[in-house]
Amino acid sequence: MSKVLVIGAGGVGSVAVHKMAMNPGIFSEIVLASRTVSKCDAIAESVKHRTGQIVKTHQIDADDVAATTALLKAEKPELVVNLALPYQDLAIMDACLNAGVDYMDTANYEPKDVAKFEYRWQWEYHDRFKEAGLMALLGSGFDPGVTSVFAMWLKKHKLKTIRTLDILDCNGGDHGQAFATNFNPEINIREVTAPARHWENGEFVETPAMGVKQQFDFEEVGPKNMYMMYHEELESLARFVPEMERARFWMTFGDEYIKHLTVLQNVGMTRIDPVMYEGREIIPLQFLKAVLPEPSSLGETTKGKTNIGDIATGEALDGSGEKTFYIKNICDHEDAYAETGNQAVSYTTGVPAMIGAAMMLTRKWRGEGVFNMEQFDPDPFMEMLNEHGLPWTVEELDAPLPF
Ligand code: NDP
Repeated sequence: MSKVLVIGAGGVGSVAVHKMAMNPGIFSEIVLASRTVSKCDAIAESVKHRTGQIVKTHQIDADDVAATTALLKAEKPELVVNLALPYQDLAIMDACLNAGVDYMDTANYEPKDVAKFEYRWQWEYHDRFKEAGLMALLGSGFDPGVTSVFAMWLKKHKLKTIRTLDILDCNGGDHGQAFATNFNPEINIREVTAPARHWENGEFVETPAMGVKQQFDFEEVGPKNMYMMYHEELESLARFVPEMERARFWMTFGDEYIKHLTVLQNVGMTRIDPVMYEGREIIPLQFLKAVLPEPSSLGETTKGKTNIGDIATGEALDGSGEKTFYIKNICDHEDAYAETGNQAVSYTTGVPAMIGAAMMLTRKWRGEGVFNMEQFDPDPFMEMLNEHGLPWTVEELDAPLPF
């Protein structure tokens, strides 16, 4: 029985809070705070309607460390689940240290002015959390999050060592819009327009953004073009699975998405440096976000499935030589919407956020300091994925990917 305070009332925050409310044995009290309190109230209303549980709401600007510290001291939660934007990570970690509260998030800290996607800043908090006897868990979404737990599960149950790892993220959903992103557009477009990086022979190799394309036939979705890109779990996987010779991340994008993105990039609309407009500074990408559809508004019309998983090749645990395994989850957009009022991209992030929080509150995962998903026993997390809406399958493949 424990009290959790969630910060951020977007699609991911909404799913996580709904799923917490469905598990009152673990989350006995839920507080939701965000910049726009009306969004918190709308989620609380939906939770009450769907589950009968009460969610308390607050307005908070999480960039304001003093205000967040005061909120934490007043509410005294056991854990803060940060589902705001990556820009707020360090400010919320500071407030947690001030108030003596554990911390969890789903995306690594990003400075506003340059796209980095590095754990460096948050790893630097390790000693401070350790000295305070507190725990911080980083990246408990799907990717990052489940994709690392999948790799560690394969390493525990199937493979002695992982030689190559490919993470394949396919969103086969169709929202009926010419161009929209399925999660926060600013973060999504920063990720996609950044140079690709993959891990090979002990170092990251950089290639131009969207420069490497392959086709893959995704179960229950069909053949899709996928592009190699950088994703933050490659950094923690390279650190905690040091024997890997190569690790890559792939994401599918339709031709329409690429076409729109290319034009937006060519005309400068994806820039994240300030430009002067009518006497004031604006960031083009932030302006673009303001005119694009809200990801949370796409749920009602999105049809199709997501299919996200890991393909790992390495030495089999049973001594039978080199083997390849494919472990994945397939999630239906319409089912996710029916259950929580949000599409599958928010669902596949919000459910693992709830599970990561449950791991911490039930002390199945415990430590003092700052931790990544790879550092804990994957089994209790994998069990909860099966029980709470993200069932997974594992199969042996005849051969590694041919590319
Ligand atoms: P949204 O943009 O829909 O929601 C973000 C929420 O945070 C909004 O409610 C926003 O408030 C609030 N917020 C922003 N700034 C502040 C602030 N300074 N103080 C308080 N609240 C603030 O994003 P998503 O729900 O799609 O994503 C949430 C997080 O999940 C992001 O960090 C994203 O990167 C991460 N993510 C992780 C994935 C994974 O698999 N690991 C996949 C998808 C997302 P307002 O409503 O006022 O704008």
